[in-house]
Amino acid sequence: MIVMPRFFVDGQPENGLLTLHGENAHHAGRVLRLRPGEAVTLCDGQGTDYDCTIESVEKDAVACRVQDSHPAGTEPRQRLTLFMALPKGDKMDVIVQKAVKLGVREIVPYLSKNCVSRPDKTEKKVERWQKIAVEAAKQCGRGYLPTVGAVIPLEQAVVQAAQSKTALFFYENERQTGLRDALSAGVGETVSLLIGPEGGFTPEEAGQAVQAGLTSVSLGTRILRCETAPIAALAALLYAGGNM
Ligand code: SAH
Repeated sequence: MIVMPRFFVDGQPENGLLTLHGENAHHAGRVLRLRPGEAVTLCDGQGTDYDCTIESVEKDAVACRVQDSHPAGTEPRQRLTLFMALPKGDKMDVIVQKAVKLGVREIVPYLSKNCVSRPDKTEKKVERWQKIAVEAAKQCGRGYLPTVGAVIPLEQAVVQAAQSKTALFFYENERQTGLRDALSAGVGETVSLLIGPEGGFTPEEAGQAVQAGLTSVSLGTRILRCETAPIAALAALLYAGGNM
């Protein structure tokens, strides 16, 4: 398979044309030295890919003629949402990057009792994570631009997470139900994963999550770090959902 140069674009084709501007135009024209007649794939970030042929290359505008459009072929079959407790330091940067590359559609950071990091202002952090998400999505050829939500309290996170067809609460003290047991009936088309902070969950919080409708599951008998757990959980879910 030939991998085409790939760009995210805003908006819909006009008169059969999509145009790359700014950084995208620079990258296409100057860095990749693409020329009229060459093929590129443009993606709207909402699940649609456009197969295009370059029509003209200018410094700030690369016009691309749309030949065909189809659903992006790079998305997982399930819509995955990761609810992630705020970790210490820069760990969230890596979590966002890896989770996006594995295929999550949305990351929702939340605060629980044992979160050590409790920043007053989180808007700037969310902005930074959103940028990391976009970069990661570009690098791995996603068909959707994943979003990073505002930081919310756990109480709200469990209610939102429970709305997915498969809603999983990854609990380090779960001894009965393994992830495989929880998925024995298959993986729903919407999946939420809720992962705790370094300090784990309190028994009250675990009770709250189950009360809200989440299934408490174990990732095995070893305790994983809060940056490892989402990666392991996502990989297992992608496998179970027929994406690997
Ligand atoms: N400090 C806690 C561990 C927290 S690990 C303790 O020692 O018990 C951080 C988070 O990763 C947990 O809250 C959970 O969401 C997830 N996690 C790590 N290992 C897990 C496991 N074996 N099963 C399920 N979830 C796990």
